[in-house]
Amino acid sequence: MTDAGGGTASSSMGRRILLLVGSVGAGKGTQAAALSSELGLAHLASGNLFRQALRDGSPLGEQARAYMERGDLVPDDITIQMFMQELSQPAAARGAILDGFPRTVAQARALDATLAERGEQIERVISIEVPVEELVARVAGRRVCPVCGTPYHVDSDPPRVAGRCDKDGAELQQRDDDRPEVVRARLEKQVKPMLEVLDYYDRKGVVQHVDGTQPIARVTEEILEGVRAGW
Ligand SMILES: [Zn+2]
Repeated sequence: MTDAGGGTASSSMGRRILLLVGSVGAGKGTQAAALSSELGLAHLASGNLFRQALRDGSPLGEQARAYMERGDLVPDDITIQMFMQELSQPAAARGAILDGFPRTVAQARALDATLAERGEQIERVISIEVPVEELVARVAGRRVCPVCGTPYHVDSDPPRVAGRCDKDGAELQQRDDDRPEVVRARLEKQVKPMLEVLDYYDRKGVVQHVDGTQPIARVTEEILEGVRAGW
């Protein structure tokens, strides 16, 4: 499948730029890591980008810091410049998987315009789809050891003794962010702009919809089949 939006079938630089879309708990991070190693693409997650920029003290990072310290959102143009900077690194020579950005149609348009200036485009958008109530259950099952930080999941990765860390026996805790009502509220805020972004790319014919309720390995396989078929 090539794009239906009138752009070139492959970018001038011959690299693949993929976008992963999915709600919190849909397994986006896990899939990004698997795809990144399978396909040799850089994994560019917006959260990591911000943290790294702050650590590096780069001029862009300093600009972003000023907004973050005021509690404001970092403007889209700064975020886009951060992504473009990462895309120019050797790690992204074969391409990249974008994760966590764009989150709105305005961001998607701005990113597409910036990529187009370089003869590039987002070639494929992979949407990992899981019903809201399953997402709530997944996230609400997360536990963490307050002593050593080991993560667990009551269903998919339980400790040997219920509620106790395997390594030190400490009582496992649920992070406030993982409580069902908090997760549901966060999801509700995410879903509308996410669906709008998907609709925007659906019109370009570049979205691969993937059933995220399947086992993790099967989801990876299905994504890879789709991506390879498009190559
Ligand atoms: Zn522990």
